[in-house]
Amino acid sequence: MAQRTLLLAGNWKMHHDHLEAISTVQKLAWALRDARLPAGSCEVAVIPPFTDLRSVQTLVQGDKLDLAYGAQDLSAHDEGAYTGEVSGRFLARLGCAYALVGHSERRAHHGEDDAQVRAKLEAALRHELVPILCVGESAEVREAGGHLDYVTGQLRAALEGIAAEALGGLVVAYEPVWAIGTGATATAQDAAEMATALRAALRETAGDAVADAARILYGGSVKAENVAEIVAAEDIDGALVGGASLEADGFAALCAAA
Ligand code: PEP
Repeated sequence: MAQRTLLLAGNWKMHHDHLEAISTVQKLAWALRDARLPAGSCEVAVIPPFTDLRSVQTLVQGDKLDLAYGAQDLSAHDEGAYTGEVSGRFLARLGCAYALVGHSERRAHHGEDDAQVRAKLEAALRHELVPILCVGESAEVREAGGHLDYVTGQLRAALEGIAAEALGGLVVAYEPVWAIGTGATATAQDAAEMATALRAALRETAGDAVADAARILYGGSVKAENVAEIVAAEDIDGALVGGASLEADGFAALCAAA
């Protein structure tokens, strides 16, 4: 069985301009140093707005900070007449390690469907960005009892036609829509059940090597107080954190608690 490094990724959404990003990253690096996390115990990443990425790159690379960073979205296209879009190639040139794909806010507010999510996932892979593929059900789907099929269906749709060899570093984030930014968290048992179902679906669609290596995160109102219980599950390899990642000391405390 592959050894999977815990990943704690902070999705800043549309918060922090580039000056605020610089100060937050500096404080986060100091706070993580003070927290003295055991070497190699986890990877911490920030996912700021596009306009912050150049500043974050300068700081992380210039000061050799032990932090990864990535983008909240990317274009399905590599270049051309796509006003307002950002190419995966540009993100890779900025040193991004990760790109979120299919976040529920993109699906809800920008109408991203399974085909677009797959195209963006392919674009990330083309540029050697690790996709953090976000999947998750609404409250209605969960109440009707169809959540396991619905969420594993989103995963299968996103991976359809993609060669298993391309999926080596895949990260999947299970983010129930009803838990994002609401303060409501899935129980550790519910999160663990979904992570196990997602890994089984990965095994079926992409084989053992991909399923064993893929990191499955939970996201949805994760805080320092609940993260340890959530990541204790065998199939959960970290967290995608929104609100609780915005403030450096709080995010560092969450990383230490995990
Ligand atoms: C998110 O935006 O991916 C998220 C999980 O947000 P929050 O932690 O605020 O629920």
